[in-house]
Amino acid sequence: MCGIVGYIGKQDASNIVLSGLKRLEYRGYDSYGICFIEKDKHHLFKRVGKIEKTEQDFLNKNFKGSVCIAHNRWATTGLVNEENAHPHCDCKEEIFVVHNGIVENYKELKEKLIKEGHKFSSETDTEVIAHLIEKYYKDNLENAVKRALDDIRGTYGLVVASVKEPDKIVVARMSSPLIIGVGDNEFLVASDPSAIISRTRQIINLDDGEIAVLEVNNIRIYKEEKESKKDIQIIDWDIELAEKDGHEHFMLKEIMEEPNVIEDAMRGRLLDDMGMVKLGGLEGVENKLREINSLSLVGCGTAYYACRVGKYMIEEYADIPVEVDFGSEFRYKKPIIKKDGGILFVSQSGETADTLSCLKEMKEKGALTLGITNVVGSSQARETDAGVYTRSGPEISVASTKAFLGQLTVLVLVTIYLGRQRNMSMVMGKRIIDELKRIPELAKKILKQKEEIEKIAQKYKEYKNFWFIGRKYNYPIALEGALKLKEISYVHAEGVAGGELKHGPLALVEESFPTIAICPSDSVYDKMISNIEEIKARKGLVIAIATEGNEEIKKIVDDVIYIPKTLEMLTPLLSVIPLHLFAYYFAKSLKRDIDRPRNLAKSVTVE
Ligand code: GLU
Repeated sequence: MCGIVGYIGKQDASNIVLSGLKRLEYRGYDSYGICFIEKDKHHLFKRVGKIEKTEQDFLNKNFKGSVCIAHNRWATTGLVNEENAHPHCDCKEEIFVVHNGIVENYKELKEKLIKEGHKFSSETDTEVIAHLIEKYYKDNLENAVKRALDDIRGTYGLVVASVKEPDKIVVARMSSPLIIGVGDNEFLVASDPSAIISRTRQIINLDDGEIAVLEVNNIRIYKEEKESKKDIQIIDWDIELAEKDGHEHFMLKEIMEEPNVIEDAMRGRLLDDMGMVKLGGLEGVENKLREINSLSLVGCGTAYYACRVGKYMIEEYADIPVEVDFGSEFRYKKPIIKKDGGILFVSQSGETADTLSCLKEMKEKGALTLGITNVVGSSQARETDAGVYTRSGPEISVASTKAFLGQLTVLVLVTIYLGRQRNMSMVMGKRIIDELKRIPELAKKILKQKEEIEKIAQKYKEYKNFWFIGRKYNYPIALEGALKLKEISYVHAEGVAGGELKHGPLALVEESFPTIAICPSDSVYDKMISNIEEIKARKGLVIAIATEGNEEIKKIVDDVIYIPKTLEMLTPLLSVIPLHLFAYYFAKSLKRDIDRPRNLAKSVTVE
């Protein structure tokens, strides 16, 4: 999620790391920090906000040095402020770390370390790493890092330097990107090639579980005591391509991140054995949530569709009646505040004006307000009584894709939480959790079909109108599929509940009006097949999103995209992925400005 840049060599690193951080900054990081390491001395600089506003302060300090680690933070744990900005250090200010990822068990580790006498100066999960390394340090930094990592559960791209051994940088990776740039008598380290390719194009990709020790003229990489043999890759991307991880657009990069986003949203939150989830952000309102008898979900655009899916989940598994509204509608209707009701606001940025204005209004009226958002410390996160972060990382493309998956995953967790407070059995809780854990792998399987989906999108590129149909859990996914296509390709697309076709929309069906039908093998499959037949009887073309193994469907529809089988409530997490890819490739074949569609903005901060 964050941006890491590090340098060890013979040159002064200040401009190298500063320009690296600035290269990564377009993703909207919230704070940054730079630390130079010398023998028994360090120079640390941290600021909140955009680098350009404070870079002169940094340059005025005239810090120089040839060992340096730096970080752009995108907060997951702890508010956005200078204390929480990286690098973080141990008690003696000798060991400095920058970290990308999440330490799942940081609370337990922190408690233990505090008991052992360690003093913490931030709220972050990352700081425990610095103290653990301090605890295990006995004259060898890499051994201490290795030992500390054994205690950690979670993800990390980690860079460590110490004033006790100022001639080395230790680097480690687990499920967070990290690369090493090989230069002339120098090494660079970064979370993303775009930060360093202006200096070197020779890259070593670090793999999970590997630790690298960088010295000016030497590099050692090993995994579980064994030396790893690594190839140097030459990156021939230009800077623009590198920012997108080699993809042509941010939207595709973000769709490809969807499995990781699902994983990150549930990371450290599943209590498998109890069929329960642990949502730290809801701890203060646990008892109030046990009492609620109704829930309103409020969002706009894609977040609104996530709410619509959430309604099916919560009603089916937590037995709480749920209403769903657009922020812009909820605010202007007469809100009926129920004493035993709650309102859950969903917004990627946490700054959506329509949603925020409802939140303020509802707080005024004394309602219990909850939130799901991606941005730590956003207005929504600050204003709600309690909430859960999606941890989807920065989303650049205006059309939201991966953030939607983060929202759906958190809604599954909230459903389990509320359900287990009520009638949901432990067995059912476990069943959902077991299946949820499989979803990232299943999502990857769908992404592997991207070339076939591209072919289908190209085949239909001349069409100007599309229906998207689905029922129950996949009705909101039909709405989301249509919205995505509209947003970035500018063709007309409408989502309809399958059963509603015959009540009007069917009048429009003809050869020139194809339908994308989401019809996994679930409780409404037969009904969906009837709807597809109604369309076929009127010569409409149909692309089906169906469950793997369903060969029969090929006989009635024109094209099929398969998704793996899962629990019905979790199908939206899979069925939406081909629709995101379809919209992307469709818009690409029309040469649209995919990441910045006309007339739209990313975070809609006006009403
Ligand atoms: N979990 C760490 C924090 O909140 C790292 C976040 C990041 O990857 O930027 O500080």
